[in-house]
Amino acid sequence: MEAWLVGNEPAVRLAAFLGVLAFMATWEVLAPRRALQVSKTQRWANNIGLVVLNTLLLRLLFPAAAAGIALHVDAQEWGVLNQFELPPALAIVFALVVLDLAIWLQHVMFHAIPLLWRLHRVHHADLDYDLTTGARFHPIEILLSMLIKSAVIVLLGPPVAAVILFEVMLSGMAMFNHGNVRLPARIDGLLRLLIVTPDMHRVHHSIDDDEANSNFGFNLACWDRMFGTYRAAPRAGHDAMTIGIRDFRAPRQVIWLGGILALPFVGKVRGYAINRRRWGNEPSDSD
Ligand SMILES: [Zn+2]
Ligand SMILES: [Zn+2]
Repeated sequence: MEAWLVGNEPAVRLAAFLGVLAFMATWEVLAPRRALQVSKTQRWANNIGLVVLNTLLLRLLFPAAAAGIALHVDAQEWGVLNQFELPPALAIVFALVVLDLAIWLQHVMFHAIPLLWRLHRVHHADLDYDLTTGARFHPIEILLSMLIKSAVIVLLGPPVAAVILFEVMLSGMAMFNHGNVRLPARIDGLLRLLIVTPDMHRVHHSIDDDEANSNFGFNLACWDRMFGTYRAAPRAGHDAMTIGIRDFRAPRQVIWLGGILALPFVGKVRGYAINRRRWGNEPSDSD
């Protein structure tokens, strides 16, 4: 099974990606949660253009991807898990949980450190919130994420199958929890005891500092509850809340691919990052 997964890793990931994409896109068209602010064609063309660029860049610089690194780590018997004889199922679950915690910590770090926030604001500057927002990251953030993930894999020594499963789950969950879709309140309430739902992660895309600095999770909902960063809902409600970041709202900067790629390098870090927060009508800082 593991050998088959490794051999067919790109095909497995692509099939899962396209399957979830088709499912979520249909759901968004049939029952959208919020009215979109910007033309969907325009946003999708640019957001998907960014995804294609990132995919090509990753394939070029990391042709073996995370699974290839995991395979090498496994062969060398590096990492904590390779020092113990755990039942395979237990090792896979343990590795999935640790990888998810690592991604959660990395996300908090990209919000906290002003220089990293410059990169991560590409994800937050989207004026709407839909499944393409979930894959909208600056290429440098994508490369840094890959390096951090590789370091975690070297230290952890996870089963190769767990790494492939995690990659498939992360891209699928990112499309699901950025979905512009409505779940019945009861189902949402039950689901978010375990996983991050669209209504839970949407709070994280609020224009307000305190709301943007909550609900950092992508897969498991437990991290935000455990570490005190959980918020049930946005103050203004899901329909009236404003999505995006304050100082960057011009379409040429936040919708067009050229503007998106330049976004980390323009302006100052005003608001959101750990020592630059601003609430309500406070005057803008002049760092
Ligand atoms: Zn974020
Ligand atoms: Zn997000």
